[in-house]
Amino acid sequence: TNWVYSFGCGETQSLDIDRDRLGGKGASLAEMARMGLPVPPGLTIISDVCQHFYVHAKGFPDGLKQEIEAGLRAIEAATGRQFGGAETPLLLSVRSGSRVSMPGMMDTVLNLGLNDETVKALAADTGDERFAWDSYRRFIQMYADVVLGLDQEFFEEILEDRMSELGYAYETQLSADELKDIVSEYEKLLDEELGESFPQDPCEQLWGAISAVFSSWTSARATAYRALHDIPFDWGTAVNIQAMVFGNLGNDSATGVAFTRNPSTGEKALYGEFLLNAQGEDVVAGIRTPQSITEAGRIASGAEKPSLEKLMPRAFSELVTVAARLERHYGDLQDMEFTIERGTLWMLQTRNGKRAAGAAMKIAMDMADEGLISRDEAIIRVDPATLDQMLHPTISPDFKANPVGSGLPASPGAVTGEIVFSAEEAISAHAEGRKVILVRTETSPEDIHGMTAAEGVLTTRGGMTSHAAVVARGMGVPCVTGAGNMRVDRFDNILHGVGGVLMHAGDLVTIDGSTGRVLKGAVPTQKPALSDDFQRLMGWADAARRMKVRTNADTPGDARTAREFGAEGIGLCRTEHMFFEGDRIKTMRRMILAEDEAGRRAALDQLLPMQRADFEEIFAIMHGLPVTIRLLDPPLHEFLPKNEEEREEVARALDMETSLLKQRVEALYEFNPMLGHRGCRLAISFPEIAEMQARAIFEAAVAAARLTGEAVVPEIMVPLVSLRSELEYVKGRIDGIAGTVMRESGMTLTYRVGTMIELPRAALRAHEIAEEAAFFSLGTNDLTQTTFGLSRDDAPGFLGAYQKKGILERDPFMSLDFDGVGELMKLATERGRMAKPDLQIGICGEHGGDPISIRFCETLALDYVSCSPFRVPTARLAAAQASI
Ligand code: ADP
Ligand code: MG
Ligand code: MG
Repeated sequence: TNWVYSFGCGETQSLDIDRDRLGGKGASLAEMARMGLPVPPGLTIISDVCQHFYVHAKGFPDGLKQEIEAGLRAIEAATGRQFGGAETPLLLSVRSGSRVSMPGMMDTVLNLGLNDETVKALAADTGDERFAWDSYRRFIQMYADVVLGLDQEFFEEILEDRMSELGYAYETQLSADELKDIVSEYEKLLDEELGESFPQDPCEQLWGAISAVFSSWTSARATAYRALHDIPFDWGTAVNIQAMVFGNLGNDSATGVAFTRNPSTGEKALYGEFLLNAQGEDVVAGIRTPQSITEAGRIASGAEKPSLEKLMPRAFSELVTVAARLERHYGDLQDMEFTIERGTLWMLQTRNGKRAAGAAMKIAMDMADEGLISRDEAIIRVDPATLDQMLHPTISPDFKANPVGSGLPASPGAVTGEIVFSAEEAISAHAEGRKVILVRTETSPEDIHGMTAAEGVLTTRGGMTSHAAVVARGMGVPCVTGAGNMRVDRFDNILHGVGGVLMHAGDLVTIDGSTGRVLKGAVPTQKPALSDDFQRLMGWADAARRMKVRTNADTPGDARTAREFGAEGIGLCRTEHMFFEGDRIKTMRRMILAEDEAGRRAALDQLLPMQRADFEEIFAIMHGLPVTIRLLDPPLHEFLPKNEEEREEVARALDMETSLLKQRVEALYEFNPMLGHRGCRLAISFPEIAEMQARAIFEAAVAAARLTGEAVVPEIMVPLVSLRSELEYVKGRIDGIAGTVMRESGMTLTYRVGTMIELPRAALRAHEIAEEAAFFSLGTNDLTQTTFGLSRDDAPGFLGAYQKKGILERDPFMSLDFDGVGELMKLATERGRMAKPDLQIGICGEHGGDPISIRFCETLALDYVSCSPFRVPTARLAAAQASI
């Protein structure tokens, strides 16, 4: 086997290897070299070596050394330089690169191969002494940090002290001699801190860097990122060793990051930032505020410093051409890293760019329109889980207040929260349920935990391509970066805004990641209008999907919202809340507390018209679409007063003895209400309740049909059935009422009676139950509870520990447990359809809005999923993706 493959040295060997083993960076370098784009020559050590490294106590496989040496010879031949050479030294970058991009999470070492001798050769060779020493300074600092484990801060301190002595604002002002002094201070620091001198042997440097890059796979921040994005440890990282090109060779040199389209708005125009006379991480680290690549971008941001387009028109137009080729080649938004050395463009990386949710949609739609990708591909490109972000609020346009700061609109959405100044505070505040905005000078990859815990992120430095911006967009967290007119004072924990405004930790602040504004306090926000792209994408999704999407709606308001979002019916209308509204609870209580059937019936007669009115309204809104109404489900004591005080009040209202009321409440007490007197069990002990509900439904259907001229086909759903005979009994009562209403109204009604499948026994005996049912609705909330024997309300107390200890991967109430609960769903659908081939089957649990669960529902060929109104767009798209 080969461990090493070279690129850009004549024939590109690494094209023969699959991209997973080369890592994203290695694969993109190989691909760009093959396309004839300007890529510095190099080699890739495949990720198999990383696996070996961890299995063999950080050791390397046999033969690796020889292969790397051969690869180096090829790079030397391609560049005409010698690694460690005394005349034309070859410098290298050693770069990590895993299968999926983990921006900034692992380590890179630049300018490797410099030592006290080669630095002089580099100076002579380039004729730029200042540059050579700047590179050496950078190298020592990076190598010490990444390989020797000495914190960057020590070096930053030396550098900053020296600059402030000299009265410099930027490192670029340092002269060659001053840099030499700094290098000797660096070397002294290393001696003192580590008791050894800086390694002068380039080969030793190289192996140190290779080990360090592999080791960075398990660094704290990389581990956190892997956990967050479900990236397996086993994948490992590849290592790329590449000839250096220099963006710090004077003012005709630069380094930058560019996107083929705008990653926050999706606008189709090259977009990016660069720094003159700079190297590597300078742009993403936010050391100086970067300049815009395009003239249009410069004007839009109101910046004064000239664009790359103006400064280096030749390199710029080459970049435009390369960008277009790469986007066409990969068929997706590209995020590129480049360096310009004395006017010559070099490409250092390209990958599919992360983008904000709204941008993802626009880009997918535009690319489909441009014929770059198919409609199906466009549907797949948009993450359904991000759709509700697009329903994210923005600041009301009529709200006029002076911002206390402004920065770049790095990740859209307006959010308010308490100011916190560190990732740790963000995490602990989040754990207490507080909403916070993480405010930092700049974020480092270590802050990633805090960013997930925060509602939003604000930085005072850094550009649109800084770590904070990239990570926030990826997570869908609103973010403003580079608010240069604000200042963070970590000493006193104060955020200084414009006009002398001071904000302390805990104060409320609002950031608007769509415009870059920062406002003091909480601010009124509004829902954004659904864009044309949104509507078109939904249209494509609707055409592509097989399953219908219904909604869980209990109120006319819910039903209306869901219709706006495209719901095709109601999959679950719970009736219990209706009895809590206004005065109804009093009548409901009178019914429950009645001593005999006659008393109950009297109260039910009063509830009937109220219930009928509810249904009439819902039927009118749904306009002929199917509506599934569930009979009363919770145990009756849920409607009764819980404490002494309330009991007295209710007794007074109902004109009843408190002691009698107390007696009745006690009689209804249950040890385990979830498994108690509820669902169809209520309809069996008190059929008059179910009959009242059935009458209300049928009479409302008659009224709605008369009103709209359209037939309404109500679906009545019996909850918590486990025996066929239970359903048979309740259905008999409903059928009886249907007959009565038809006789009374002189109208023929079409209706369906069905059941929830939410108990394991019902799933197992589905073939029997199906004989009595016109439809099944998989009630996966209760089915999950009863399959696991786990109470949803109590589980949060201990499921966290399960997830932390790796005992349970996902919360089964959020995302279906395919193996257990899913198996029962499969049984129920198979057995139900065996008995009744045209049985309609849907899902109405919380899982009906979860994209992964929706995919599973498609494998069961369910007829529909039903979810809460705001998740209807998500479900429409997820159902389409599941069909493609
Ligand atoms: P990351 O994965 O964090 O982006 P990279 O390996 O891409 O790390 O390295 C970071 C930066 O270092 C690059 O964006 C580029 O500016 C610089 N760099 C890497 N390799 C080279 C090289 N061969 N020549 C010049 N600069 C380089
Ligand atoms: Mg990079
Ligand atoms: Mg239930």
